[in-house]
Amino acid sequence: MGNRRSSPVTKIGVYSLVLSSDVSIELFNCCYSPEMARNIISFHALFRQGFQFSFDNKIGSISVFKNGILIFTAYPCDGVYETVECVDNLGHSVNYIDSTSGVEKACLWHSRLGHISKKRIAQLQKDGVLESFDLRSDDVCESCLLGKMTKSPFKGSFERGEGLLDIIHTDVCGPFRSTTKDGTRFYVTFTDDFSRYGYIYLIKHKSDTFEKFKEFKNEVENQLGRKIKMLRSDRGGEYLSIEFLDYLKECGIVSQLTPPRTP
Ligand SMILES: [Zn+2]
Repeated sequence: MGNRRSSPVTKIGVYSLVLSSDVSIELFNCCYSPEMARNIISFHALFRQGFQFSFDNKIGSISVFKNGILIFTAYPCDGVYETVECVDNLGHSVNYIDSTSGVEKACLWHSRLGHISKKRIAQLQKDGVLESFDLRSDDVCESCLLGKMTKSPFKGSFERGEGLLDIIHTDVCGPFRSTTKDGTRFYVTFTDDFSRYGYIYLIKHKSDTFEKFKEFKNEVENQLGRKIKMLRSDRGGEYLSIEFLDYLKECGIVSQLTPPRTP
């Protein structure tokens, strides 16, 4: 002990250390001494059991890995490295278990092969490409869960047009890989919010949007005897040119821009 006293060891065995992450590791040749207030793990003993380490030079912490997977991190505290663990079965010997369980192996190969499905792993095992190990169905991969998360649905509502030409929705699509016979690769749409009636114009460049809008405006305003009040677009550059915005101002048309990544 630190004060040069010795303290009896009453049991030696395998200890199953349950970490705060719920991961448990088997520690072999553990000594149980009832007088000791702290549980100490020897890094060298972990090294002999096949664990690897990395040292963080900024905060001085040590991360412990097994087969490339982070098992836990120990932080410096009172001159020793501290790790949070659940101590519930101290001193109880457990049976020797193969240090790389099937679940660990499945997790490792799942990560190594770009987070492939269990079905694909099973197929690789069947083909003899991968060694066979237990594929348990209840273990989940956190990275996969995060990767599959989706955005919650958009519930906001916009103000709607009360009559023809009150609000015109517009967007430009393209460039398309296939061009038309006369070389157009884009199209611009103008859709009336009230009637849902839409116009499509084929254009060669995004910058042609402005000319097409003037064409559209002249036609619909003359035919319907009403004026366009609002033009709603995404933040596409084709709608944000000074000449386009000045023209809208001149005509008394409000330019509405939708927030990014909303319908
Ligand atoms: Zn995964």
